[in-house]
Amino acid sequence: MTAPAIEVRDLRYGYADGATALRGLTFSVAEGETVGLIGPNGAGKSTLLLHLNGLLPETWRKERAVSIRGRAVGPENLHEVRREVGLLFQDPNDQLFCPTVREDVAFGPAQLGLDGREVEARVADALRKVGIEALAERPPPHLSVGEKRRVCLAGVLACDPAVLVLDEPTGSLDPKGRRELK
Ligand code: ADP
Repeated sequence: MTAPAIEVRDLRYGYADGATALRGLTFSVAEGETVGLIGPNGAGKSTLLLHLNGLLPETWRKERAVSIRGRAVGPENLHEVRREVGLLFQDPNDQLFCPTVREDVAFGPAQLGLDGREVEARVADALRKVGIEALAERPPPHLSVGEKRRVCLAGVLACDPAVLVLDEPTGSLDPKGRRELK
């Protein structure tokens, strides 16, 4: 039997200022499964998603509550885990930092050590998939929030992760953009 894509066991998390965000969360997601997470503002959705590729390291001292494809997430395997889990942040401004869209989308695959031609092919494919080829040479700070979100998604897709984690991916997208994302 293959390990679940995501396994979370009794995950608890409190921020340093005292806010308790997660109180003993347990669930698993099988390979190939798509799961939507719904809850009011402040329910802890983003906090959970940040745990899926080890972005809230304080947790490790207490417990190894998150496993990705059978690997318990911890400081010694962050590199592998982040290769497997592509995370789209809630705020696109947290994810964009290159002078052009093309460079931003290329950043992830280049970090994976792929050769230049493969990086170029992945960037072209990702820009096409999210429908933003025309934005390739534009500076990300000049784009609308919806366009920025698409750039971020292209950057994640270009890394071809095994597990795709999207935090409010349809936020700021128009109805057409929402339909296309599905
Ligand atoms: P959601 O994504 O469901 O809106 P969050 O995971 O962002 O919820 O927030 C869960 C709780 O953690 C909230 O009470 C929020 O105020 C708190 N929180 C989120 N981020 C931080 C942070 N960086 N520092 C302190 N508290 C935080």
